[in-house]
Amino acid sequence: MRKIYLDYAATTPTDPEAVRAMLPYFSETFGNPSSAHEFGRDARAAVEAARENVAGLLGAKAAEIVFTSGGTESNNFAIKGVAYANRNKGNHIITSSIEHHAVTEPCHFLAKQGFEVTVLPVDRYGMVDPDTVGKAITDRTVLISIMHANNEIGTIQPIAEIGKLAREKGIYFHTDAVQTFAHIPFTVESLNVDLLSLSAHKLYGPKGVGAIYIRKGTRITSFMHGGEQEGRRRASTHNVPGIVGLSSAVEIAKEKLQEEMATQTRLRDRLIRGILERIDHSRLNGHPTQRLPNNVNVSIEFVEGESMLLSLDMEGIACSTGSACSSGSLDPSHVILAIGLSHEMAHGSLRFSLGRFTEEGDIDRVLEALAPIVEKLRRMSPLYRAQAGRS
Ligand SMILES: *Cc1c(COP(=O)(O)O)cnc(C)c1O
Repeated sequence: MRKIYLDYAATTPTDPEAVRAMLPYFSETFGNPSSAHEFGRDARAAVEAARENVAGLLGAKAAEIVFTSGGTESNNFAIKGVAYANRNKGNHIITSSIEHHAVTEPCHFLAKQGFEVTVLPVDRYGMVDPDTVGKAITDRTVLISIMHANNEIGTIQPIAEIGKLAREKGIYFHTDAVQTFAHIPFTVESLNVDLLSLSAHKLYGPKGVGAIYIRKGTRITSFMHGGEQEGRRRASTHNVPGIVGLSSAVEIAKEKLQEEMATQTRLRDRLIRGILERIDHSRLNGHPTQRLPNNVNVSIEFVEGESMLLSLDMEGIACSTGSACSSGSLDPSHVILAIGLSHEMAHGSLRFSLGRFTEEGDIDRVLEALAPIVEKLRRMSPLYRAQAGRS
């Protein structure tokens, strides 16, 4: 039976075309891009072509792109780099309660170093209100970091509006666009951002490589010290095959973006409708319309997300949950709690993230599998029996 992968938000398979593009850069064109000889020049040409390509899709200049090891490094670089470089100006950072850990943890780290961090609440759809950003700004604020779209519930933030506010006040604005770059169309100008993080393995490129856009003129401190790579902004020998893979993935995405958005939106809505229709006491998490084309996040009451995930896994269906029992913590996801769900509802959350290779038949199989799984688990749930007895 076909295995069904619906966890594209966790990672994507590398597109076979991107793998083909990478292969020569392991053993043929293997030079160090910093070397002056022909081996080095050839590798350097590939890195610079990739830089042009990534910049092109962002509407940025090539010189504004720095290659990194992925989304986590890009976020760390943006947040710590801007905070340290602008310490003489102020020590206040604004972020939101639904950020990826690769943003919340650097902020937490800075708070321990004496920075002041304001964590903005979100509404029940996971949306940040630009007005609350405006009200949180002080004359000590040096950085605002709000993600473009949330990886768990798919909500797309009003980044352009927040960026406009930040620009009016001369405050640097960073967005984590790991879930949106090469998935939905935008440019750094349309979003009004100064810094933006992206990661190859979320867009059908390889793992361990990504990039950060840094607007020309941005004051930022490096935190990888060593060689003079990347205009002295990020030391370490380039991951040439990875960078070529990222570039190839960007090329493919440019071609397929519009069509994939349409297909995934249709399949997403089919899955959402199917779940809400077939399963009582279920609800959609995240925004009904301002959401990623590939994201479905539901809470199913009186069942553990973890149990549903494992039951689906036994039927060859891969998804994820915001309920984190297996990771040793009983706390459900901070994102699900931030949108105001009770612990019970939070523990029953499931995320299906669709992608390039998802077919309509996959959605139908999930719908056929999920309802009986929920029914079986609920039969064992005293909470559900109590509830069923009442109604
Ligand atoms: C996956 C992800 C990251 C981390 O990227 P890595 O390349 O895995 O380090 C950061 N932010 C978001 C929103 C993500 O989905």
